[in-house]
Amino acid sequence: MATNRTFTMLKPDSVEKGYIGAILEKINATGFRIVAMKMTQMTVADAKEFYAIHSERPFFGELVEYMTRGPIIAAVLEKENAVEDFRALIGATNPAEAAEGTIRKMYAASMGENAVHGSDSDENAAIESAFHFSGREMF
Ligand code: UDP
Ligand code: MG
Repeated sequence: MATNRTFTMLKPDSVEKGYIGAILEKINATGFRIVAMKMTQMTVADAKEFYAIHSERPFFGELVEYMTRGPIIAAVLEKENAVEDFRALIGATNPAEAAEGTIRKMYAASMGENAVHGSDSDENAAIESAFHFSGREMF
């Protein structure tokens, strides 16, 4: 079922470099409504669970280290066709391959440190939102 909601994280590199405001501005300007948002820091156990699908990949250790090294901004976003439109807004996983004007093209340093997360399906958007937020924190 399409939910018209997606889940995002502005990753530790975005927070460290002071890009939060610029990225949120771009998200707003693209028509997404913020329905939940907080600054939080994932524990190693959190990151291993969140990225469990990648646990056998060679980059898993680095990914967990990166995602836990500092605070993130977690948010739930609402818009018609949210999952697909947000993936288009953030661009390819590797910023070198991301389209001009996308968030990763503008703010990501590398494939590993790529500034922002976006859910890849409605099902995962719901799972990932519930991982970070209770029902009373989503508006
Ligand atoms: N990642 C990495 N190396 C890779 C692929 C992915 O370091 O070769 C990291 C990167 O931070 C990416 C995350 O793992 O955002 C999750 O990978 P996925 O394939 O789900 O990419 P995404 O959905 O974030 O575009
Ligand atoms: Mg993914």
